[in-house]
Amino acid sequence: MTQPAFHRDNGTLFVEGVSAADLAAQYGTPLYVYSRAALTAAWHAYADACAGRRATVHVAVKANSNLAVLNVFAREGAGFDIVSGGELARVLAAGGKAANTVFSGVGKHPDEMRMALEAGVKCFNVESIPELDRLNAVAGELGKKAPVSLRVNPDVDAKTHPYISTGLKSNKFGVAFDEARATYRAAAAMPHLHVVGIDCHIGSQITEVAPYLDAVDKVLELVDQIESDGVQIHHIDVGGGLGIRYDDETPPDIGEFVRTVLDRIEAHGAKTGKTREVYFEPGRSLVGNAGILLTTVEFLKPGAEKNFAIVDAAMNDLARPAMYEAYHAIEPVTERAGAAPTYDIVGPVCESGDWLGRERSLAIEAGDVLAIRSAGAYGFVMSSNYNTRPRAAEVMVDGTRVHVARERETVQQLLAGEHLLPD
Ligand SMILES: *Cc1c(COP(=O)(O)O)cnc(C)c1O
Repeated sequence: MTQPAFHRDNGTLFVEGVSAADLAAQYGTPLYVYSRAALTAAWHAYADACAGRRATVHVAVKANSNLAVLNVFAREGAGFDIVSGGELARVLAAGGKAANTVFSGVGKHPDEMRMALEAGVKCFNVESIPELDRLNAVAGELGKKAPVSLRVNPDVDAKTHPYISTGLKSNKFGVAFDEARATYRAAAAMPHLHVVGIDCHIGSQITEVAPYLDAVDKVLELVDQIESDGVQIHHIDVGGGLGIRYDDETPPDIGEFVRTVLDRIEAHGAKTGKTREVYFEPGRSLVGNAGILLTTVEFLKPGAEKNFAIVDAAMNDLARPAMYEAYHAIEPVTERAGAAPTYDIVGPVCESGDWLGRERSLAIEAGDVLAIRSAGAYGFVMSSNYNTRPRAAEVMVDGTRVHVARERETVQQLLAGEHLLPD
């Protein structure tokens, strides 16, 4: 890329070779726009750092599960990390391989286990003894042996938002560190399971390497204990969670992060005479800054205490501000001269929590199109139909070409599965 995927030319925002204003005019708003070049560049940051080492990257599908987005990664030979049977169907439809897919999640249904066993997923990341029992039973019914890894909870503080911190004792995730060794012995004794690895995932939007190294050290200590019990650990899955820049965060560079983690695990391997494959499961850091959400200003509503800019995107389109008080940069796609008062950017949904940005200084008028940046991760995938609002369209820009990745939903589609009472 000679210039960044998202850049300005004469005051106008461009996504690769296409003007954002033209996209809004042609496809309407609210509109999610992804840059293929940005997706590919983020993939390469991981893949290049893993080259020549025993390391594999599994794209966390839940961060952005659009088929065209997954297809970009599948064409690069990516593995995938799924949390439901639905996500497995998406991976397969996008050209991904079950044999390169790991199945995470705290509450897998027997039907999802069956589907994943039949497809031949690479590994089940299991989080409890009852889940081991269930998987053992389902695999037995199918006459298969399920490859398993236990998600252990290393009890480290990822120093991120409480809703997206997952590696503390107080979280619902993983097998407690103190119980992990006994749980491995239980798993190894189950006839339809085959223990292959260990995994952890300590949170999301993590902007330092230190919590990962703390988690890795604890996991390695556990690996030695488990192996001394006679159970072999072939891979270590360090999860996802690397943060991105939304505002003024300074997350580690992807390549540096990958190399630091691999160095730590390889150094331990050299000491103990073992080499193990390492898995990464990035989501946000692959897709977050590869997408924006375009929205049109409907009305400006000046007030005594606050000015509001009411836009056509809402919390149902982008839930992160309402859900985590998350910050997204917001900018007009076409700059205009003049005063830039302070606005709260809010949607039309009937909730005071329906806001997208607060106290932003913007020179805007009704009808202007705004770009909400860093919307590629946990954006469209978290959208809902609250207030019977059809979900936004998604497009992918590839150079000067635009590909409709998902058509805008219609009200008719929303009503389709509902039925009036009988006479
Ligand atoms: C959500 C999740 C990921 C991806 O997290 P990001 O913060 O988007 O990188 C990876 N692994 C597991 C198990 C997850 O639940």
